[in-house]
Amino acid sequence: MRDDSPTQTLLADYRPYPLTAESVALTFRLAPSATRVTSAIRYRANPAGSGPVRFDGEKLRLIRAAVDGVELTPGDYELDSTGLTLTRPLPDSFLWEAEVEIDPAANTALEGLYISKGMYCTQCEAEGFRKITFYPDRPDVMAPFKVRIESDLPVLLSNGNPVGSGPGWAEWDDPWPKPAYLFALVAGDLVATHGEFITCEDRRVDLNIWTRPGDEDKCDYALDSLIRSMDWDERVYGRAYDLDIFNIVAVDDFNMGAMENKGLNIFNSRYVLASPETATDKDYELIEGIIAHEYFHNWTGNRITCRDWFQLCLKEGLTVFRDQQFTGDMRSQPVKRIDDVLGLRAGQFREDSGPLSHPVRPDAYAEINNFYTATVYRKGAEVIGMLRRLVGPEGYDKALDLYFERHDGDAATIEDWLKVFEDATGRDLTQFKRWYTQSGTPRVSVEDSYADGTYTLTLRQQTLPTPGQPDKQPQVIPVAMGLLNPNGDEVLPTRVLELTEAEQTFEFKGLSSRPVPSLLRDFSAPVVLDRAVPSAERAFLLAHDTDPFNRWESGRALAKDSLLATIRDGAAPDADLIEGLRAVITDDSLDPAFRAKMLALPGEDDLAQTLHQSGTTPDPLAIHRAVGALEDALARALESELTALHDSCQVQGPYTPDAASAGKRALGNAALGLLTRLDPARARAQFSKADNMTQQQAAWAALLAVGEGAVETRAFYEQWQHERLVIDKWFSMQVTLASPETCAETARALQSHKDFDWKNPNRCRSVIGALALNAAGFHDPSGASYRLLADALIRLDPINPQTAARVSSAFDSWGRYDAHRQELIRAELRRVLATPDLSRDLTEMVSRILGA
Ligand code: ZN
Repeated sequence: MRDDSPTQTLLADYRPYPLTAESVALTFRLAPSATRVTSAIRYRANPAGSGPVRFDGEKLRLIRAAVDGVELTPGDYELDSTGLTLTRPLPDSFLWEAEVEIDPAANTALEGLYISKGMYCTQCEAEGFRKITFYPDRPDVMAPFKVRIESDLPVLLSNGNPVGSGPGWAEWDDPWPKPAYLFALVAGDLVATHGEFITCEDRRVDLNIWTRPGDEDKCDYALDSLIRSMDWDERVYGRAYDLDIFNIVAVDDFNMGAMENKGLNIFNSRYVLASPETATDKDYELIEGIIAHEYFHNWTGNRITCRDWFQLCLKEGLTVFRDQQFTGDMRSQPVKRIDDVLGLRAGQFREDSGPLSHPVRPDAYAEINNFYTATVYRKGAEVIGMLRRLVGPEGYDKALDLYFERHDGDAATIEDWLKVFEDATGRDLTQFKRWYTQSGTPRVSVEDSYADGTYTLTLRQQTLPTPGQPDKQPQVIPVAMGLLNPNGDEVLPTRVLELTEAEQTFEFKGLSSRPVPSLLRDFSAPVVLDRAVPSAERAFLLAHDTDPFNRWESGRALAKDSLLATIRDGAAPDADLIEGLRAVITDDSLDPAFRAKMLALPGEDDLAQTLHQSGTTPDPLAIHRAVGALEDALARALESELTALHDSCQVQGPYTPDAASAGKRALGNAALGLLTRLDPARARAQFSKADNMTQQQAAWAALLAVGEGAVETRAFYEQWQHERLVIDKWFSMQVTLASPETCAETARALQSHKDFDWKNPNRCRSVIGALALNAAGFHDPSGASYRLLADALIRLDPINPQTAARVSSAFDSWGRYDAHRQELIRAELRRVLATPDLSRDLTEMVSRILGA
């Protein structure tokens, strides 16, 4: 019988490594199928460490190895498919030298050294360095690196500062000790967009954005974002850059968004390249946020790294929190908060409510790549937001200063992180730590009463069992709240209640009438608030709440209640919702970006999740129809307001990606989406006269959503066939917006299109990954989409297991659905699991999803 559960790595098994790496010198002689890597590494015994001296190494052809200049013979070591163990006695300090050969051209997994469109590049996080040479590939082994690259390609880059170059070679020196996962090398025929930054410590830094020739006209926004990020980190966190050069390279074939390699960030080209014609406002915002994220890692991740991969949230949660603050500062804090909560609910709440639920700090994994999750990133950021709320902004700043002072140069843990907050603020965080160790989304239910001038609020918290964690302890939940008078005045401005028990009662005295509570302001904790609120009260908060997040949340909840009533018993759309929205969208004192968020209805997957949690089996088609019916009703009821908005939101003059213009376009396009349900003419007109991708794509999307747009689909391809990032949109939009019945056949046909490419993760995600974005199409009762996704996983896994594993999570919601769908999905998952030679990545994901 084959073993479906690959070996687990456990947090409890952590032991320091028996050696310290004092210096690493690497030489690369690049050749597509036979690159030679020689290494010279000085090691010293680490008295705190234990275990055998073993170097990780995979897919390496060992040519020779030596210790202190003495060539090793086969009796000196044991070699297997994952590494090399030294079996002969070693001196306290020794020089390890090795030469290996690797095959970048055959590397389609895009981990280690690979070739993308003629460009050599690397991806080492989490465990890719072991595919480059033999080394203790773990983040707590840190060393300064010197790198020599030999190749005829014109541009040869690595980490640190350039120290020499000549025809056919270049040398780099990175003085900052770093773990191997931050190593990077790039070589190619590249062109740079240059900039410069002078740090607050008076260091002059050369900035370069490297692309393939032809893309250099799309780098200005990335460069501008980088400069703003560097400035912001100095001003807000007091963190300056620490090398003479900062390079960013855009690569077409890339497994994730971007990577923070020291001094040499490597990016998926979609998060670098932008022009008004080819990139949307959303793309610009993502570029700004991801450039910032990777730059911020220089301190939170690189200068202070993780002791082991269980501590991943130490760098990712904190760096996401920082990039969220940055985007809020650059754009709008309330709108950014709404976006982040939408992302949290769609990605993390979903994950946390199914078989893949895990703590922010997991304690076991088979394949660490499977734990770069919404929980680690997004919930990890929420936990830091709660900490900041509990200790206050000054306490937070003090703690962060202490963190950088105490742990600079360390490979640290969550314990270290929390200790810094305890020492800086005097607060005991023992109970708070449960946010890191306990999985699942707490539900907070609310009861309230009013008598004799006293308002009483009772909060109860409960977290349902999750895989491996049947019993949950109460957590520290900061509930920001305020009270409003029935006339709309605020009687109690925002304060934070600390819910630490399973049940707690809070009293507010001296009120002259029964107040309206505004709870969980600014979404102060990643919890589900359980409270049946009459629609009149929601409409009141939508009109009057002083907290912008809760204003939006009230509108959202009204829309959700209305949709759920339609789904459950065919109820007509709620009049309070329609009138509330009418008032908000025509209120010109409100930010257009905020109004655009108000007009967007809850997503179909969010509704399915809510139905399931309230004990109803969701029917994806009924959900899809209910959303469409509400959109129709809004369009009819608000036609004249929407028409006026669409007209008034046309931004005059040449396109600029700034937040104000983007907000106007977002509102205009939200109006257009609804108006197109009545008549496609406006969208057709906008499509043909658009001079920027934001307007063009929105018009095309509006048409696709109502089953129109065939002409535009052809025109879009004709116009953009040579712009691969735009063609990714062309693929994904068709799948995402296909009608439920045609989704699977659309996706299958697109897989046979001449521009489809199994080796390019962006292209795969835009067809296979997009299936999950079309909830009704994915869950079509024929099972056609399930079959298509399973077929795709089986085909993709041998090419790129990391990407296959990521898209497999579309199946994680199977437990919500009816027996027929459940059986269809499980049969597909079992078929995938039975595939011979399935990767560890996909095996772990499918086993966990099945609950095996
Ligand atoms: Zn990151």
